[in-house]
Amino acid sequence: MSPARRESTEARRARAARIVRALERAYPDARIALRFTTPLELLVATILSAQCTDERVNLVTESLFRKYRTARDYAAADPAVFEREIRSTGFFRAKTRSVLAMARAVVERHGGEVPRTREELTALAGVGLKTANVVLGNAFGAQAIAVDTHVFRVSQRLGLAKSDDPDEIHDQLSLVLPRTKWTRITHLLQAHGRRTCLARTPACPTCPLRALCPWPGKPREGRR
Ligand code: SF4
Repeated sequence: MSPARRESTEARRARAARIVRALERAYPDARIALRFTTPLELLVATILSAQCTDERVNLVTESLFRKYRTARDYAAADPAVFEREIRSTGFFRAKTRSVLAMARAVVERHGGEVPRTREELTALAGVGLKTANVVLGNAFGAQAIAVDTHVFRVSQRLGLAKSDDPDEIHDQLSLVLPRTKWTRITHLLQAHGRRTCLARTPACPTCPLRALCPWPGKPREGRR
């Protein structure tokens, strides 16, 4: 059994609080990387960000957001044209279906306004828990943990959660991370995953969380 799994929930909460403080010191500039000015823009950008870098999404949405300004604009889009416009984000056919179906539902069920509850958001086509929480946390000012690829990987290496299912990771993290900072902590874990705890070659020797991390893959002292 790993050290993290032997840890009580109370002990894990205390270690999580120390992790958060270290992350705050290491990445004071952490923030959402997707560019947006409205909840609808963030919803579209987050759907497009699946299996794609935020930098690529920002390039594509720069012109996309000038052309499509309302949910009705997306709902009325020609799928073949839209596919071409978002092609470079990958999985462009599925993403086109998701964005256009999401927009139709926003128009038909919500009068064109992006809904503000998790239940209503996840009822939209192409919107899962992660996407809903990105929108709630960053466009509506709610506290929400968004488990993207970085949060999924980093939280498991840190022994804060363990599962193959991102939604299960979300539920486990919600038990140990302070609720008042869920959105901020999402940004911090993402920054750590992008800059230090990289997928293939985590920079363990220089990691600010090294003393708090039970990941067995990190090099032992003296073997740097
Ligand atoms: S010590 Fe290594 S595995 Fe642990 S959080 Fe830091 S970079 Fe990631």
